[in-house]
Amino acid sequence: MTKTRPVIPYKELAKKQSCFRPGSTLCVGCMESIAFQDIGRATDNGVKTIYSMGTFCGEVSTLFWPHVIAWGRGDQEPERFEDSFSIIHNVFESAPTVAEGIRDTADLLFDLGALKKPIQVIANSGDGGALVIGLRSLLHTIARRTRITIVVLINEFFANTGFQYAVTATPHSETSTTPAGDWIHGNSAEPINHIGLALMAGAGFVAQVSPAFPKDFTEACEKALACSETAVLFIPSPCIAGWKFEEGRTIELAKLAAESGIFPLFIKEKGKEGRVRPASSNPQNRTALLRFLAAQQRFNHLVREEKEGSLVILPGREQEVREIENWTDRNIKSLSRLAEWNF
Ligand code: SF4
Repeated sequence: MTKTRPVIPYKELAKKQSCFRPGSTLCVGCMESIAFQDIGRATDNGVKTIYSMGTFCGEVSTLFWPHVIAWGRGDQEPERFEDSFSIIHNVFESAPTVAEGIRDTADLLFDLGALKKPIQVIANSGDGGALVIGLRSLLHTIARRTRITIVVLINEFFANTGFQYAVTATPHSETSTTPAGDWIHGNSAEPINHIGLALMAGAGFVAQVSPAFPKDFTEACEKALACSETAVLFIPSPCIAGWKFEEGRTIELAKLAAESGIFPLFIKEKGKEGRVRPASSNPQNRTALLRFLAAQQRFNHLVREEKEGSLVILPGREQEVREIENWTDRNIKSLSRLAEWNF
């Protein structure tokens, strides 16, 4: 069960020392850098952090020895063990498995008296690594109730290798392997239910949160780090290079993704009723969805934003937009049922 602790207000969290540092080569406007900053601050809680990273944009752009090392707490190695931060990289699918090994080793050393203070362990992957290549290792780590926090950044692609389709892709979005043309209108599949999978595998805490909603994000990070079983944080991450939106709209896109029902906010602790936002579909969701689609070139074959700000569904593409709307309605309903389910 998850231990309950008071939530630090976001303005307090913002004053903490992050373990994510300047110097990364992430695209300007990438949500991953904002997420890293906030997760890094949440780990400044008096417990040593060990961070396991699989291969994804967030890894190759921040941890490319010896040229790019954008991790570490403070300018100097912290004097206190509990403030220190360590990072280890492994291949796409292995971040949770490596984290599990770290957890087991630390627990053993602690039991033997060789390690005097607790540590917190985080595994971080992209959606391609965690939910496609590494889905099996992710689910097995959760099923073993490993006491780690798993962070999955979702940008709906294999961005690192050329923006190929990933199993999280929004219906009818264009990817390099599901192009939009006269005969094919982007990705024809519905996304995997990643939240349902994590809950069914036995996670003690599951959340889908965004730095665009700092209060929910802070609460989810705190609860995940305090969880005595596996905690999973899914973080939808607007990708400026793949979603193709104007610079400066990252947070706006993250808000629209939640409000439209594409990536609703979700927080659930095992044994307690969870919560979903938005809780049901309504006309505001529809407007948010059209704004979400129109702001990105990957949906330019469906909806466009006219110069004066009006949104236009392209002639002949009404059916595809209706299918996305229907899917978001079902997504909200399915997450609401999962939130209510007492398991
Ligand atoms: S390709 Fe996308 S996910 Fe990767 S660094 Fe650029 S914006 Fe971020």
